[in-house]
Amino acid sequence: MSSGSGVQPKVGFIGLGIMGQHMAGHTLAAGHELHVYNRTRSKAKTLVERGAVLHDNPGAVAAASDIVITMVGYPADVEAVYFEAGGILDKARPGSVLIDMTTSSPALAERIAEAASERGVTALDAPVSGGDVGAREAKLAIMVGGDGMAFEQASPVLRTMGANIAHMGAAGAGQHTKMANQIAIASTMLAVAESITYARRAGLDPDVVLDVIGTGAASSFLLNGLGRKMIREDFAPGFFVHHFVKDMTIALEEAARMGLDLPGLELARSLYDRLVSDGFGEEGTQALYRVYNAIHA
Ligand code: NAP
Repeated sequence: MSSGSGVQPKVGFIGLGIMGQHMAGHTLAAGHELHVYNRTRSKAKTLVERGAVLHDNPGAVAAASDIVITMVGYPADVEAVYFEAGGILDKARPGSVLIDMTTSSPALAERIAEAASERGVTALDAPVSGGDVGAREAKLAIMVGGDGMAFEQASPVLRTMGANIAHMGAAGAGQHTKMANQIAIASTMLAVAESITYARRAGLDPDVVLDVIGTGAASSFLLNGLGRKMIREDFAPGFFVHHFVKDMTIALEEAARMGLDLPGLELARSLYDRLVSDGFGEEGTQALYRVYNAIHA
């Protein structure tokens, strides 16, 4: 890698959606040469106008970069961009660091780390929390699994996107930490929707209720941010329902593997499954409020 000499490492970024768009932009703003690829090419337009180099496939990005970041949708997308012939693992430069920031499965993170080390490169799993706002404002919490030296190498780039970056342990530990985060969010989303539903039925103004309880013990990003959107019935996506269902499914599978029963998570997934089957998978996770509207219509 070229970072030790004082030259900034070249960054590759694959997956320029709601999150990746902003995250890649921060590395560019920090002065890194940026190489990008996205399945829908038009989403690279703004970054290209700012100086990023657009490539035709993930392998070409890897071949041009010292640090390769992926922020795609599902574990199946992660698997494709890393393992396909001519993909990231085939084309990565010796000594480069590969960082998957997608929320994906811990087992897949371990497989990628193993395959990477067989090819003389290092892979980290580094999922994030903080939502589209955290991505835009470079205030993400970033939870990292994998080799400690690679973590040190990658940290300056990760710091362009986040305020709180933690090394959680070996490969997969970042994804396990993210699952703990999603488990906490799952039951909280139910609690926020139920609290607003109750306040309305009791004849209170839910906005005034949030003004008060949003500064007390129940205060949270979810209550104060997504709770307000529920009240306004603004269901535009910051975090897609279908991605949250993916996360809860991974967490339930990991919990089952560890012999854990998580009834709050089970209930949340069943209500979100209902949203998806009703056609609301492309909305934001605050659309859970629709389920309570439907129950109490
Ligand atoms: P998104 O808007 O769907 O972005 C994903 C991007 O990856 C899309 O632009 C997609 O291309 C691209 N992509 C998917 N497969 C690809 C492939 N094989 N090759 C190249 N590009 C590919 O989703 P997002 O909200 O940014 O979320 C990304 C990941 O972060 C998800 O795992 C999500 O669970 C996680 N996450 C999201 C949030 C949030 O608040 N949004 C917060 C924390 C974590 P297309 O443009 O063609 O669809």
